[in-house]
Amino acid sequence: MTVQQTLAALVAIDSVSSRSNAEIVDYLAKRSEVIGMKLNRLPYTDANGVEKLNLIALAGAEFSDKTTVELALVGHTDTVPYDPDWTEALQLTEGDGKLFGRGACDTKAFIAASLTAIEALELKSLTRPIALIFTADEEIGLIGAKRLAETRAIRPRYAIVGEPTSLQPMRAGKGYCIAEVTIKGREAHSAYPSLGSSAVFGAANLIVAIEKIASKLEAEQHAAFDPPYTTLNVGLLHGGSAQNVIPGACRFTLEWRPIPGQDPMRLLDLLDQAIAEEKKRDPEFTCEVDAARSDEGFDTSTGSRLVTLLEELTGNAAGTVAFGTEAAQMTELGAEAVVFGPGNIRVAHRTGEFVPAAELDACVKTLQQAIARLCT
Ligand SMILES: [Zn+2]
Repeated sequence: MTVQQTLAALVAIDSVSSRSNAEIVDYLAKRSEVIGMKLNRLPYTDANGVEKLNLIALAGAEFSDKTTVELALVGHTDTVPYDPDWTEALQLTEGDGKLFGRGACDTKAFIAASLTAIEALELKSLTRPIALIFTADEEIGLIGAKRLAETRAIRPRYAIVGEPTSLQPMRAGKGYCIAEVTIKGREAHSAYPSLGSSAVFGAANLIVAIEKIASKLEAEQHAAFDPPYTTLNVGLLHGGSAQNVIPGACRFTLEWRPIPGQDPMRLLDLLDQAIAEEKKRDPEFTCEVDAARSDEGFDTSTGSRLVTLLEELTGNAAGTVAFGTEAAQMTELGAEAVVFGPGNIRVAHRTGEFVPAAELDACVKTLQQAIARLCT
């Protein structure tokens, strides 16, 4: 099968994160097994009771408690949902050198390129082991990759994590954290403010303090990023129940993307200090912080062999990404990780996402060369 035919087969399998990814994993398992790779299926049940699987396909070694590989090629099997009006979402279509379909860019193109690169290889020629790692639930919080990291399922020395980077190796990435902040007040008739306590005024004061935290964090810089510091955002805010009621509650989301090397909890410490200040000013101030997610970034050194190899093979200097990827979990597993793949992240997650056919072909070639250099 050509890489385009493989991509068409992958796009045809609906693997939106809300569904089970068993069908696409079965397909990938068959393709890997037929060329002699060993398989390890790692099933789990997601929060909605749906069966999900991570799959590891291994060549050049046997599975053990401490399966170690020289190189892992990592791709997530799930996609974001698609608009029902996009009738060809599950049918790879070509036009103007572009291949359209849900997941064509993010990240089935990389998976198709990985399979094609491995299939071209004589597995007997391997002197060091290689693994394909197919994960679940990346799009909804890197859940599959986090399970792999927790269970120490494999130890890769180098990991290429597939994401659309237009074939630029990305050697570092920011983390991703979210908290929900709830300010509690006391409802009262708005004609008699002294009978109540406004949660919205309380939230407003805290948000002013959060804006100052943002300026403070700008001083802690990591030059490889644009912008070179931890960014934060209050994206959603909801408070009050009616125009003539002193609001009893106000809730907002706080999202931040920490630069690698900075503790993702640093922002929560600063927030706690701001809350303590607010309490000093207003003893009635009541606030709860629910930190739902705190994912660290990753930072592979510029001198890593994998970084310099991908720079050499693609002719593209290494860069950094500001979005969350599974490279952080691969780093936790001990790997020097790089994010790399065909297609552009700017067209991902959109109706009409696509991968340029030429980049897909170039990715196969680069992966073949990387495997040859690292594993044979
Ligand atoms: Zn992706």
